[in-house]
Amino acid sequence: MFAKKEIIDILKDNSQNRELFAHADMVRKENVGDAIHLRGLIEFSNICRCSCKYCGLQMANKKLERYRLSPDNIISCAKDAVDAGYKTIVLQSGEDIFYSKNVMCKIISEIKSMDIALTLSIGERSLEDYKEFRDFGADRYLLRIETTDANLYKKMHPNMDFKNRLKCLYNIKNLGYETGCGSLIGLPGQSIESIANDILFFKELDADMIGIGPFIVHPDTPLKDAENGNFTLALKAMAITRIMLKNINIPATTAMETLNPNGRIIALQSGANVIMPNVTTLECRKKYEIYPGKITPDKDIQKHRNCLEEKLKSIGRTISKEHGFRRQ
Ligand code: SAH
Repeated sequence: MFAKKEIIDILKDNSQNRELFAHADMVRKENVGDAIHLRGLIEFSNICRCSCKYCGLQMANKKLERYRLSPDNIISCAKDAVDAGYKTIVLQSGEDIFYSKNVMCKIISEIKSMDIALTLSIGERSLEDYKEFRDFGADRYLLRIETTDANLYKKMHPNMDFKNRLKCLYNIKNLGYETGCGSLIGLPGQSIESIANDILFFKELDADMIGIGPFIVHPDTPLKDAENGNFTLALKAMAITRIMLKNINIPATTAMETLNPNGRIIALQSGANVIMPNVTTLECRKKYEIYPGKITPDKDIQKHRNCLEEKLKSIGRTISKEHGFRRQ
């Protein structure tokens, strides 16, 4: 367990990165083993009411062609992923109010009848919505805090409220979801100290899943002239999170692979134990452009899975056959 000062020192000093990554890899092995959980990600709508400055899906981006999958279409994507062996489906979208509480509940109950774990990642909703989704069987919810620096949060999310984000996270936690959080590394104006605070916040929340990725500049956003986040710094924040939260699930994020061609394998050897392959149809994937250069796997999800299995085997890892809840 590191104190804040130690976290800051580790983040600032690059002379012992190798030892840090090896330590995180050992903690991962001891606490969650060598099997990787694959989560089939369905990006079902890129329509969004928010204006997050870093995100390509923001409402003001008129260049993006928008799409919205019908409930039947979403369910059929999920079925294909389950047939290909996926044990977890993640439904992610912009904050699209077309998917009302009732529409979501119908989708949730259909997908839950396939005997898999279901994760939602659809942004801020009311307590009542979260409760209903949970009652209909949703197991997990991902909602990154993005940054715990309240001032930076306000700058990055002009029409949102930091306190409400926190409230949503605690509502999710209290309803008994496995709670996923996380942050962006390298937002303009973000300090190292605030990244240390992010990690301490994950610990305080006792998050079950943490996704950490570098910020990647999108040309059609107000941050188009900013610089990309740093891959190594994101990797270090992830490694420290593994060491501090031990048995949680940590994805090797797609954003890491976007900045480094071998990024996900490196992440899997530095504390991560989850991959979230995209199982949406190819044409939708291109339009779900939260940032440019997002890697998109083979359009044949079975082929992609086999290919991943080979790659994982080469680093001594396997694909888990379980639902992949947090280990006790
Ligand atoms: N609407 C949902 C899903 C958001 S997209 C929600 O609000 O939770 C999932 C994640 O992508 C975000 O939480 C954010 O951390 C990340 N993201 C968005 N834009 C990005 C960018 N330009 N670079 C890297 N990651 C980004």
